Amino acid sequence: MILYCATTNPGKLREFKRTIHPPIELLVRPGLESIPPSLETGTTFEENARQKAVYYSAGLGDLLFAEDSGLEVDSLNGAPGVYSARFAGPNSTDSDNNRLLLERLKGSSNRAARYVCCAALARNGQTIAVFRGEVAGRILEEERGAGGFGYDPMFFYEPFGCTFAEVPLDRKLEVSHRTAALRAMLSYLENTSAR
Ligand code: IMP
Repeated sequence: MILYCATTNPGKLREFKRTIHPPIELLVRPGLESIPPSLETGTTFEENARQKAVYYSAGLGDLLFAEDSGLEVDSLNGAPGVYSARFAGPNSTDSDNNRLLLERLKGSSNRAARYVCCAALARNGQTIAVFRGEVAGRILEEERGAGGFGYDPMFFYEPFGCTFAEVPLDRKLEVSHRTAALRAMLSYLENTSAR
């Protein structure tokens, strides 16, 4: 069975390939590079994932999934949320975003946070189902570790006793929000006639 994904990001593709195995053949959506990027105007991860899956699956008879992810911080009412990639502005880098997050949390004792990922499965412009994965942690007062990306150097994961930037990628993937959402999607595909 063919399953298309709607990303050309090599980091994400690598993660997808570690979770999605034969008999499912994971391929990048044909022609993705020449398609103008989808809008991401939703106010939730689910809305954005649906928007992208509907857009990129139009005209495709095979299944396609698109995902949206980010960080929610309790004491910031769920921010940065869907704005995680552009928290500090439209062209912000990971370090800009991390700096702003530390600033916003200065003096705060409630540092509970979670990564969330929603993966939407679609065919021919119609959403079939949406899957959500989460992983809970807390935001440290400084960055630790050189691995991972985005907010990982500040995301302390209690069961590991360190941040996501201090463990090898494989360990992070065992518990990550993206892996959880993809596993839920794979289990759905195994148990339904969607394929
Ligand atoms: P997107 O799903 O590519 O839109 O990613 C949204 C943003 O959320 C990323 O640019 C990161 O800032 C953040 N994010 C999502 N997943 C992770 C993760 O696993 N580690 C660190 N940051 C993440």
